[in-house]
Amino acid sequence: MISQTRKIVQKSLDALLEDESFLPGVKDESRKKAFSSLTSILSTPNHIHKSFLRIALENGRVERIPAFRVQHNNALGPYKGGIRFHESVNEEEVENLASLMTLKNALHDVPFGGGKGGILLDPRDYSEKELHLISKKYVQYFSDILGPDKDIPAPDMGSGEREMDWMMAEYKSIRPGHPYRGSFTGKSVVNGGSLGRREATGKGVFFSLKYLLHDFMKDKKSFLTKNDGVFAKNLLKLEDRPLKVAVQGFGNVGSVAALEAHQSTHLSIKVVAVSDRNVMLYNEDGLDIPGLIEYAQKNRGDLPDTEVALEEAEVKAEVHDRDDVLYLELDALILAALEDQIHKDNVEKVKANIIVEGANAPIESEADAALNDRGVIVIPDILANAGGVIVSYFEWLQGRETQFYSEEEVFKMLYEKMTHTFDTVLPMFFGDPFSLRQNCYIHSVMKLSTVLYRQGKLY
Ligand code: GLU
Repeated sequence: MISQTRKIVQKSLDALLEDESFLPGVKDESRKKAFSSLTSILSTPNHIHKSFLRIALENGRVERIPAFRVQHNNALGPYKGGIRFHESVNEEEVENLASLMTLKNALHDVPFGGGKGGILLDPRDYSEKELHLISKKYVQYFSDILGPDKDIPAPDMGSGEREMDWMMAEYKSIRPGHPYRGSFTGKSVVNGGSLGRREATGKGVFFSLKYLLHDFMKDKKSFLTKNDGVFAKNLLKLEDRPLKVAVQGFGNVGSVAALEAHQSTHLSIKVVAVSDRNVMLYNEDGLDIPGLIEYAQKNRGDLPDTEVALEEAEVKAEVHDRDDVLYLELDALILAALEDQIHKDNVEKVKANIIVEGANAPIESEADAALNDRGVIVIPDILANAGGVIVSYFEWLQGRETQFYSEEEVFKMLYEKMTHTFDTVLPMFFGDPFSLRQNCYIHSVMKLSTVLYRQGKLY
């Protein structure tokens, strides 16, 4: 997967050299040198930290659990990115995700660099007490490289407020007398977290779809009609029609995005399918998303996966194989599970008109190119799922100011920030041959190149 990110970054960098706005006024020779430094900076992380967390389990066994923190780039500000608690964590994956954070923050003008952490475990296999110990150990092992102005972790897959509260408390006791509120984001509200942080990624994911299909479509109707590209044509086909949407993944991102879609007043939407690690549920007339969320909350996050469980949840749905969610006839498919879900061997079967990446890197690069050739609009991860890190930034600011924003203010600021980014990249996308992902990458890399050049780092 790491080579895929490098490949796409490379493609965007190649386009950049042709672009006049890349380091304007800088002579050709220096531009070339700057370009080559930029390439080496962005394709390698600044630091890779790894360790084994030594934990005594409740049954007396001792385990050494692999743990990582990758600091990709800090040109724009302190490293920033979640800590994943998952059984698929590995160094390459964390490295790839850290580089996506650099691009994501640059894209949305968030003054942070890119980082990511990971702990190789299935959190379901550990007791609360053990997870507490593991979280504390992570901070003990990496405390030298973390901090509110150095590297600020947040939740990611498998972690949440509970882990961030534990970690912040550990950081505070290791560094007494130092500022600590901004050391972790995604904390509970009582511990200095921001209102709206928990829902921010899912809300931002749905906002992306709504913005494209409603706000942008209405505002830029004549621009889109005059445009004879395949993406504009495909988008216009969806105007004012009832939309069939499915969501892969029913965790913190997928369930919130599904609920937002279900409750949307701007678009006429039916969420016909949702899936999780066990099952896909389908209902042609639209699923009862609040009912499913209530059931999942009471059942360790799982969707009902048998007729009996569906009866208990009082939800009407057909039970299908988990992966069928990828192959339905849909107007929009929201991917909010793991990476590499759509790849070269299944891309032909994908029939959605629009795909929104709620997860990071859910589409492998060959499949991405195939979707692009077919005119499928992919709203890429760094554009669509930035709600979490944007509200993390608000949380970090609130921690500094010890002044708190209302939930309404948080979402207003979130949507303003995302709107600004969408308005920057969408007109470029509909006007040129690159995918929306490449447009976003070009925009981020352009920003990073200017910043790095002025910092004297591109020589
Ligand atoms: N883990 C989230 C992401 O991938 C949020 C990161 C953050 O808030 O720092 O964007």
